[in-house]
Amino acid sequence: MYLTAGLHRSMQRHPDKIATVTGTRRQTYRQLVDRVARTASALRALGLQPGERLSVLALNSDRMVELLLAGAWAGLVINPVNTRWTAAEVAYALNDCGASALAVDDGLMATAQAMTAPLPALRHRLYIGEAQTPAGYLPLEAQVAAAVPMEDVRSAPDTLAAIVYTGGTTGFPKGVMLSHGNLWASLLGRMAEVPNPPHYVTLLTSPMFHVAGLGRMLGQTIVGGTCVTVPSFQPQQVVEIMAREGVNDLVIVPSMLQMLLDTPGFDPQGLPKLERILWGAAPITLPLLRRALAAFPQVDFIHVYGMTETSAAVSTLPISRDPAFLESERIRSAGPAGLSAEIRIADAEGHELPAGTHGEILVRGPAVMMGYWGREEDTRKALAGGWLHTGDGGVMDEHGYLYVIDRIKDMVITGGENVYPAEVESTITSHPAVSMCAVIGLPHEKWGEAVHAVVVLKPGMQATAEELATHCRERISGYKCPKSYEFRDKLPLTAAGKVQKTELRKTAQASAGGQA
Ligand code: ATP
Ligand code: MG
Repeated sequence: MYLTAGLHRSMQRHPDKIATVTGTRRQTYRQLVDRVARTASALRALGLQPGERLSVLALNSDRMVELLLAGAWAGLVINPVNTRWTAAEVAYALNDCGASALAVDDGLMATAQAMTAPLPALRHRLYIGEAQTPAGYLPLEAQVAAAVPMEDVRSAPDTLAAIVYTGGTTGFPKGVMLSHGNLWASLLGRMAEVPNPPHYVTLLTSPMFHVAGLGRMLGQTIVGGTCVTVPSFQPQQVVEIMAREGVNDLVIVPSMLQMLLDTPGFDPQGLPKLERILWGAAPITLPLLRRALAAFPQVDFIHVYGMTETSAAVSTLPISRDPAFLESERIRSAGPAGLSAEIRIADAEGHELPAGTHGEILVRGPAVMMGYWGREEDTRKALAGGWLHTGDGGVMDEHGYLYVIDRIKDMVITGGENVYPAEVESTITSHPAVSMCAVIGLPHEKWGEAVHAVVVLKPGMQATAEELATHCRERISGYKCPKSYEFRDKLPLTAAGKVQKTELRKTAQASAGGQA
């Protein structure tokens, strides 16, 4: 199947349902499809041919939804660009994927205009904002208004649909090639596990330059649901919009969930329509999960695990409210493999390990990427033996439930013992004064690496390194307890809201005082 198939279905079944809400602007599926078909036509009229890359540098909005769908409709390869990148990073990615056209909105125009590197492949700069068209840009809106809607190209499933860059949490982002079939398989795989009724009004907190946001948007088009967009995650504003628009479905990452709950005056009762919270993208600590479950007693929580290379989720776990489940080990699981993926745990040579054994999570199936754009060596390594090597450590229990332990790269080896930061982070954040925490390894003469904790306290709360050290010693083995603590106002986060441990390692070394 092809990416825009959902649009045709929703157009037939729910033409007058609201498809997108951005600020005060709302449009039905009939209007959305018309705009997508016109925008596609306008793009083709510029001379863009199927297979050429259309990069979109924009904050989440209805215009971005239209443009991404229009790119697919016209047979172009869509490349949503990370809005947190610097001008130099954007230029690098545009050259990396050989973009022929770049569309920019008002929020990102400053970044686009600050690019100084030559962009030899780029033939068109399109403006999709509301203000005066900047010099050197073509106003797309005028072209769209004048365009005659075109027929959907309906690309074959094995056609490249999108190049989505990885989150850059562990290093330089890589361009992941996803086919129409990959994305479609991922959507169907998730829908088989997690119900997606058409009455969902979904708030896209996750940017559409990541598969979580892109996939959720596409998922809504299949069932004729509504996507509400916000340009960025501002807890106060998000709460207001959720209440105003009757948002009943929220896709979120743990750090945002934390920020939401920590917002002064935040009252979950103000969101009576909320039915479901789907979270993933990074490990959640048990204290945060329990706190969220208590704050939203009527809401269904669903844990998803996945990555750019798998088009989105490969496993899902609905959190049961059954007390036995809540107290069981399974609450930590990311669930069994979904329909679009086979999952196994393997040793360093790729041999499957028995249930209960820690190893690398491998994934294969129709949602796994075609490869990394322009990186044959990386692709060969990542897809060795026909399985995607995720770089994540995990365990599978005897019932096929996956436990994501941590990124293998983040594991700290101290005195020959393996420490998984996620476990230590979970322990530290169970202290009532702690809001967020990131655990890393710092080079150490005697132990090779020493466990180091960077802690953000809750507003107005206090805790000393000694108190946290005692808290840890009472709960986890001595070798897992941090050797040093550092307090900060905030943690460096990626655009997806994940802690940038690479950044932290660079800066933490310098300031690792506070021996506990
Ligand atoms: P990069 O690959 O550039 O370092 P990234 O891995 O963060 O960045 P993404 O593809 O957006 O880029 O994220 C996928 C990764 O996020 C997974 O490999 C895993 O490490 C982590 N992740 C996703 N879901 C979960 C989850 N439910 N629990 C724990 N970790 C998760
Ligand atoms: Mg990754």
